[in-house]
Amino acid sequence: MSGIYFHIPFCKQACHYCDFHFSTSMKLKNNVVEGMLWELDFQKEYLRENIETIYFGGGTPSILSIQELETLLDRVHKNFDTSQVKELTLEANPDDITKEKLTAWKKLGINRLSIGLQSFYGPHLTLMNRAHNAQESLNAVKMSQDHGFDNLTIDLIYGIPFKDHSIWHKDLETALSLEVPHISSYCLTVEDKTALGVWAKKGKFKPADDEFGAEQFEHLVSKLKSNGYEHYEISNFAKPGFYSQHNSAYWKGKPYLGIGPGAHSFDGKTSRQFNVSNNSKYVKAIEQDQLLLFDKEDLSREDGINEYLLTTLRTIWGCDLSVLKEKYQFDLLVEMKTELERFHQQEWIVVENNHLKLSEKGKLFADQIASELFV
Ligand code: SF4
Repeated sequence: MSGIYFHIPFCKQACHYCDFHFSTSMKLKNNVVEGMLWELDFQKEYLRENIETIYFGGGTPSILSIQELETLLDRVHKNFDTSQVKELTLEANPDDITKEKLTAWKKLGINRLSIGLQSFYGPHLTLMNRAHNAQESLNAVKMSQDHGFDNLTIDLIYGIPFKDHSIWHKDLETALSLEVPHISSYCLTVEDKTALGVWAKKGKFKPADDEFGAEQFEHLVSKLKSNGYEHYEISNFAKPGFYSQHNSAYWKGKPYLGIGPGAHSFDGKTSRQFNVSNNSKYVKAIEQDQLLLFDKEDLSREDGINEYLLTTLRTIWGCDLSVLKEKYQFDLLVEMKTELERFHQQEWIVVENNHLKLSEKGKLFADQIASELFV
């Protein structure tokens, strides 16, 4: 099983918290799409297994015209075995969703939409500089459902500073009323190079403290679980049968090919490739010198162990101790005995059927726990 990921590095406007790779200038859009077609030809031998998932992420993939999407998908079908594709996801912002686009996306085989709503509270949408309002979000979800998109996920952001938790509680109630089968939710992080980061440095914006975010995370988990969602990854919740297959494969270490500026690829074994995160350098690299297109990195045994811990500990499946033993000759229970005993006393971890998993309490410290177990 393998997947193809497209990074569409264009957005209408810059959200104030975002540190992904994107550009608000559309000047190079045609060239980048051309570059992606070239990459799909150049990398057609990269994946040796059947493709089961295709994912358009970004940036804002819903900014692409139907013709651009069709051309990219045609090239995928031409170069790869797509007979087993089960999930074809497109990330869409509410302000891009129209009846015409939904009909056309369906025709292209897109069977899962990921809608970036983030919040239903106007002042928070303004603070984040989102390009849509709450009503547009509600309409977009309803319209998508009316067009037969049952496999829908929405993104929500918590940890936005406010005097209490009332807005977050209300946002969750609204999200639940939409009856979508999947919700991804992330804590607002304030990165240095973003607008919020600059304002925070100048004292014009005060991020919420960790405790505020943690309380909202705990409410998120209990609310969604009591409404029938399974908490299958730290930031992801799904009704049974609606886990993201693309992301689940990624967390399980399956191979994937990343296409576009800033995308990366993994061969499923020991090699990673990182495409240049700059639209004009990407276009130039393809036009002039293909060697500048990506950096290649061979994962050492230590990198492999650390990465396996970091990704699997965040999931419902946990870290399979036998994989660490067989693939890396690493006995986690022996090598990290002291750390594991400490985490156990703090009630952060459990070992079940030879898998190390985080407890509900431990999920609040997932990254810290993984990094303390790094070799
Ligand atoms: S739409 Fe998404 S990728 Fe674009 S700036 Fe906003 S958060 Fe970042």
